Amino acid sequence: MSELKEGVKGLNVEAIRKMFPVLHQEVNGKPLAYFDNAATTQKPESVIKALDEYYRGYNANIHRGIHTLAEKATKAFEVTRESIRAFLNAESREEIIFTKGTTESINLVAATYGRQEVKKGDEIIVSELEHHSNIVPWQLLAKEKEATIKVIPVSEAGELDIDAYKELLSDKTKLVAVNHASNSLGTINPIEEIIREAHKVGAKVLIDGAQASAHLPIDVQALDADFYAISAHKFYGPTGTGALYGKRELLESMPPYQGGGEMIKDVSFDGTTYNDIPYKFEAGTPNIGDVIAFNEAIKFVNENGKDAMAAYESELLAYGTKKLEAIGGLRIVGTAKNKVSVISFVIDGIHPFDIGQMLDARGIAVRTGHHCTQPLMDRFGIEGTVRASFAVYNTKEEIDRMVDGIDRIVKFMSK
Ligand code: PMP
Repeated sequence: MSELKEGVKGLNVEAIRKMFPVLHQEVNGKPLAYFDNAATTQKPESVIKALDEYYRGYNANIHRGIHTLAEKATKAFEVTRESIRAFLNAESREEIIFTKGTTESINLVAATYGRQEVKKGDEIIVSELEHHSNIVPWQLLAKEKEATIKVIPVSEAGELDIDAYKELLSDKTKLVAVNHASNSLGTINPIEEIIREAHKVGAKVLIDGAQASAHLPIDVQALDADFYAISAHKFYGPTGTGALYGKRELLESMPPYQGGGEMIKDVSFDGTTYNDIPYKFEAGTPNIGDVIAFNEAIKFVNENGKDAMAAYESELLAYGTKKLEAIGGLRIVGTAKNKVSVISFVIDGIHPFDIGQMLDARGIAVRTGHHCTQPLMDRFGIEGTVRASFAVYNTKEEIDRMVDGIDRIVKFMSK
């Protein structure tokens, strides 16, 4: 464990592991090794405690109350908004809208900005590397508006073909929607260039940051991103909450998403006026407790330092890649130069599902299947992969256990 204590740039992985209660259990009689972090990360004690404290101590509806509990809850809720603003380096807190997560953030943009701006014959560009949640909302919109979806192709290594992207851009392009990092392959996309090129033709860009938030620095102003979507649960926060960043002038020009309480200024049967941003997009009672707990996840990342965490995860990625590559018949899908800590692989003659089940029997949690990226799987001519995705609490020792497990599975299956 001494190696863990030293870690990268003072990162104490042993101490970090202690903060995550769920890690300290046996699954099927073996210590849990949790490698399904791209699906959802585990939560530190501080996040769990914040949620518990809210429900035990000051559960109240926010914004409309003048009593003490309501004021306390409102304050804590708005503290998280400010933390997200800083986390993304947005210019103002009004540009941060709470949503259920990345999926809802994308749907919000499609249903508001998209519905208002996209016209018949317009084009929306997505990539072959997208999660279904960054494909289907655009398909729904395109169908409604008689617009067209154009797709940036992906190379054999799992990188976006940027030349092809530039060819797709035209004055018909209204929106470009791509991820910052791919959940299936780990590819980090050159979003700065993607945004710059889109802006040259007057298109707006939505970045799906679901997989970037835990690993990559994000600066929406430096990127000049128009929209940026995140989910708390992908970086040590609770499920059911996340955020959409949008540039002020865009958010102000957009119609509301849902109607209801909180999003209005005045309601009458003669006409209703809407609230200012961000509240215009936050109809109804939000997920107050989880938003408050979300702040602890941001603190966790900030306190450990995203750079140090990413450096350690890169070490795990390089280590795991080298070890897995050495297994006969195993092929890594997605070998981009720049990757977050995700390894997707297939093994000749063994179904990913079987590998997942046999690893689970050894206490090792990986994900198998298409990872909500069916077009990408089609591109590679496969049904799915086994995916191991690493977080800051994973260790080389755990990777050794996975590699040893796979080695044995391969030998057993080829008997
Ligand atoms: N985009 C990407 C790249 C993702 O990995 C995910 C979650 N797997 C999503 C979008 C959707 O996120 P959520 O389910 O939190 O809305």
